[in-house]
Amino acid sequence: MSRFWSKTVKNLTPYVPGEQPKLSQLIKLNTNESPYGPSPKVLMAIAAANNDALRLYPDPNSDALKQSIAKIHNLQANQVFVGNGSDEVLAHAFLGLLKQDHPILFPDITYSFYPVYCNLYDIAFETIPLTENFSIDITDYIQKNNGKNGGIIFPNPNAPTGKALALGQIKALLQANTESVIVIDQAYVDYGTESAVDLVNEFPNLLITHTLSKSYALAGLRVGYAVGHPDLIEALERVKNSFNSYPIDKLAMAGAIAAIDDQDYLKRISKAVVQTRETLIEDLSQLGFQTIPSHANFVFTKHPEKDAAEIAAVLREKHIIVRHFKMARIDQYLRITIGTDEQCAMLVKNLKDFLK
Ligand SMILES: *Cc1c(COP(=O)(O)O)cnc(C)c1O
Repeated sequence: MSRFWSKTVKNLTPYVPGEQPKLSQLIKLNTNESPYGPSPKVLMAIAAANNDALRLYPDPNSDALKQSIAKIHNLQANQVFVGNGSDEVLAHAFLGLLKQDHPILFPDITYSFYPVYCNLYDIAFETIPLTENFSIDITDYIQKNNGKNGGIIFPNPNAPTGKALALGQIKALLQANTESVIVIDQAYVDYGTESAVDLVNEFPNLLITHTLSKSYALAGLRVGYAVGHPDLIEALERVKNSFNSYPIDKLAMAGAIAAIDDQDYLKRISKAVVQTRETLIEDLSQLGFQTIPSHANFVFTKHPEKDAAEIAAVLREKHIIVRHFKMARIDQYLRITIGTDEQCAMLVKNLKDFLK
C-alpha cells in the first residue's frame, strides 16, 4: 500500500493465476495448458515473419484473423472480436456489456476471474450456488430476482468442475432470458461439449468466448476471441479502441491464423487428451478417488480419506504440480490437468505410493 495509489487500486483484489514454477523436470498439471505443442504450421508461420512484422504496427482490426475464425464457425467477420487472450475479451465484455443497473449472475464455483473483473469495473454481482452435485441449474438463473439481472456468465463446461450443460439447456436459458446478455465462456468446449456458436444467429443477446490457450496449445501466444451479434461485437470494439488499439501483434496474428486454419490438428490433439482423461479417471477410481465426469482437459477429484491440500503438497515434493483451491465446498478437491499418458502414469504411480 502506498499513499500514491488511486482509490481504485487500493480496492482491487487481483486474480491469482496458477503457479508457473521455474523448476525444470516438472510435471505441470496445474493450469490446463496442453501437453502437446501447437500445430507445426504455427511455428512455421511465425518463423516466416519478416522485419516488417516487428517494425510496423499490426493491423488494429486483425481482419485476417477474424476471417479465419468466421470461416470455421460459418459466421461473418463482423460477428467476431479478437483479443489478447480470452481474459482480455472477457474484461471488455464485463465493461461493455455486463455493467448494467441490475447485478449480474454467475455460479458460486466458477472461473475466479469473474468476480475480479466485477471488482475492477465496479459491477454488482450475485452468485448462484451450484446444485449439490455441482451442476448449473438454469431455472435458478431464470427465477433469480424475478428474472431481472444485468447479465449472466458461466463457462460451459464449467471450471473447475468440468461439468457441461447440454445445448438444449443453453437454448432454454436464452429463450427465457431475453433482456440481458448471456456470455458463455467456451474455453474447454473442444473436449466433448456441444458448442452454442450456431445460436448466435438466433439470439442477439448471446456472446460466446473462446481461447487458443487450451485446446490449440497456445497459452503463450495470448489470443482469444468472441462471437456474437454485430451489435455486441461493436460494444467490445468500442472498449478495445478506448484501451489498446493493437492487442494482437503480427507474430500472434500469423500463429493464430495458422492454428485456426489447421482444424485437423486441433481435433487430433483434443481427442488424445480426451482418451488420456478417461484412462486417468479409471486409474484414479482404482485408487479410491471420486472424480466428477469431465468434459474438459482436467479432472476434478477428491479422495474420501486423504486431505486434498496434503495430497497436493506430497505431489509437489515429487515435482508434480496440481491445483488446489482453498475455497468453501471445494477445498477437498484437486483440479488436475490432463498431461501426456506418461505424465499421468507418473501421477498415478506417485499417488499409489502415497496411499500405500
Ligand atoms: C483459461 C481460461 C480462460 C482464459 O484463457 P486465456 O489464456 O486468457 O485466453 C478463460 N476462461 C476460462 C474458464 C479459462 O479456464
